Amino acid sequence: MKRRVFLTGLAAAGVAGCSKPAEEGTPAREPEQTFQWKMVTTWPPGFPGLGTGAAELAALIEEASGGRITVHVYGAGELVPAFEVFDAVSRGTAQIGHGAGYYWKGKIPAAQFFSATPFGMNAMERNAWMFYGGGEELWRKVYAPFNLIPAAAGNTGVQMGGWFNKEINSLSDLEGLKMRIPGLGGEVLQRAGGTPVNLPGGEIFTALQTGSIDATEWVGPYNDLAFGLYQAARFYYYPGWHEPGTCLEAILNKEAFEALPPDLQSIVLLACRAVNENMLAEYTARNHQALESLVNEHGVQLRKFPDEVLARLKTLSREVLEDVAASDPLAAEVYESQLKFQDQVERWHDISEYAYYRARELKE
Ligand code: CA
Repeated sequence: MKRRVFLTGLAAAGVAGCSKPAEEGTPAREPEQTFQWKMVTTWPPGFPGLGTGAAELAALIEEASGGRITVHVYGAGELVPAFEVFDAVSRGTAQIGHGAGYYWKGKIPAAQFFSATPFGMNAMERNAWMFYGGGEELWRKVYAPFNLIPAAAGNTGVQMGGWFNKEINSLSDLEGLKMRIPGLGGEVLQRAGGTPVNLPGGEIFTALQTGSIDATEWVGPYNDLAFGLYQAARFYYYPGWHEPGTCLEAILNKEAFEALPPDLQSIVLLACRAVNENMLAEYTARNHQALESLVNEHGVQLRKFPDEVLARLKTLSREVLEDVAASDPLAAEVYESQLKFQDQVERWHDISEYAYYRARELKE
């Protein structure tokens, strides 16, 4: 029945935008076309923050379009597996996807830089680069050959360093460690002597509990509490050097997006922008509540990575980033753009955000 309404709508609309006003001074209303979209995601269905962010994006698109676009959301594995989201949207199995760029690193080395860059920019800086520093333009260029239009659609803020069953006192404690850590951070771990594993979120808990991995990072307290990771590892390390402001992405099938009239295209992009901001606010609000619960109710041992470990990881990160850039011209272009922007924004943030954090801690 729905299909009939859809087809009737399409036929009635004819060639959009050509009809004349019905009366002088009274704009004609086109019969409304409706669009039925599928959204595939890399997240477990309804998963806090990420899955709910994807669901929020779908709901916003429906609501703001007055139902002219409906979006059916599929969690990881419901229509396609998590790591096939990119291909599914690229070929038009779904019109929109929600995930993270580093999941596609095997296909597009440059994609990783759009989700998280080790020791790179935080959420505020990344958004500045994305919207005012040429980031979005580069991103569209990188995804264009895949028939996809990307849009920033969520940010977790600074993540946690991960869950370990032993203390990390020196770099040698990372040697031989089999850890779930995706993207560029994983390559850094490899250089530090560890073995990175790329697993979708839904498989992490079991892998850690059964010992098929020794350690894992996921997101932050809000998500990690929901997965129950504290039941499988004792030490919870910070900071998330590898993901200092991870950007989640919406990917739009180019034909599906271009089939929309301009107002609906705007609505889709504005919904992405809204979710991009909302998700960061949600993480900021919920992470500290969840951290309290992890420490006070579940006895989690919080630990900071030693400075010498972080300094070494930073050096290794730089090496990895430069190697990825050297292997792929597009990755080089993105990396150089980020590096330049980060250098500038860091100088500003040293005397603004950072100086203020320090000032806030002072006591007389
Ligand atoms: Ca992560």
